[in-house]
Amino acid sequence: MRLSEKEISEIKDLIAFPKNVAIITHRNPDGDALGSSLGLRFFLEKYNHNIKVILPSEYPATFQYLHGIEDCVVYDLKQEETAKIFKNADIIFCLDFNALDRVDKIGPLIEDARAKKILIDHHLDPEPFVDYTYSDTGASSTCEMIHQFIHQLGAIDKLDAGIGEALFTGIITDTGSFKYSTNPATYKVAAELKEVGVDDYTLQDKIFNTLTEKQLKLLGHALVNRMEVIPGMGAGIIALTKQDYFDYDIQRGDTEGIVNFILMMDGIKVAAFMREQPTIVKMSFRSKGDISVQALARDHFRGGGHKNASGGAAYAKLEDVIERFKSVLPKYL
Ligand code: 5GP
Ligand code: MN
Repeated sequence: MRLSEKEISEIKDLIAFPKNVAIITHRNPDGDALGSSLGLRFFLEKYNHNIKVILPSEYPATFQYLHGIEDCVVYDLKQEETAKIFKNADIIFCLDFNALDRVDKIGPLIEDARAKKILIDHHLDPEPFVDYTYSDTGASSTCEMIHQFIHQLGAIDKLDAGIGEALFTGIITDTGSFKYSTNPATYKVAAELKEVGVDDYTLQDKIFNTLTEKQLKLLGHALVNRMEVIPGMGAGIIALTKQDYFDYDIQRGDTEGIVNFILMMDGIKVAAFMREQPTIVKMSFRSKGDISVQALARDHFRGGGHKNASGGAAYAKLEDVIERFKSVLPKYL
């Protein structure tokens, strides 16, 4: 769903004068969620708005390098402050998520807010909980869409290295360093960001070469002791147990990227990465080509996402979740 000329002109009027703006993204924010939120913040600051970026939960340490990240309000830590921000907001931007259940308890705060609500997102099946929907499932990332959004507002002259650093981050993380989900615009946007001074080499280094020893050892453990390959289905599963969480002191972000290793095997087209948490089993799915793990996550694991990258959760035992995955997978091959 693109924005119409009329909608764009209404949004232009909305942001022309200083207002209270809230920017919210999904729980367990990734590089795209954080980058799009901060990039939009830096852009809107040029119009002197009073802007708050709200994160439902804390962000991975990897993204500590992002300027302004320390100013984000984390709902889990500051619930009352968050409620006030939404109550007083004139405009709410919802970035990188398609449904209110992706922001948990913040959902009702958004629903009840009197603000004008604008969704910018690239996930499948956006839900109609906003006044303006800018949805592009062909975009590599929400960060790429923020760049296009700035273009559509006729304000690309406001792009600078600060906005660029944030937006380039999400493009790198959501495309796995330009390995998937790219389209011609992705490269054009990347080129324009580099032109305004983004140091992409340093970003790649900060994103991918800052693992701790513990994280690398956890990866080794996951591959050696927790991976099951099902050649008949062209699939692989890695499942981490509660005990693993204890033994490796696994914290938020420590398991990032592990799922991708499964797809590095020749002939493997589907990857499932399961994490046994105190009350639920969280899942990440990845696939190649026409196999839709979005449909699989949506149909069986209360989840969703993109065709080739999705996630979900189940209130069940880890073994049962693995069995359910194996039994439903053939339908999607
Ligand atoms: P990841 O595996 O990196 O956590 O998530 C991959 C993709 O799936 C992301 O685009 C994310 O938004 C989506 N996703 C992950 N978990 C869930 C979930 O529980 N529900 C829905 N609807 N989408 C999810
Ligand atoms: Mn994204």
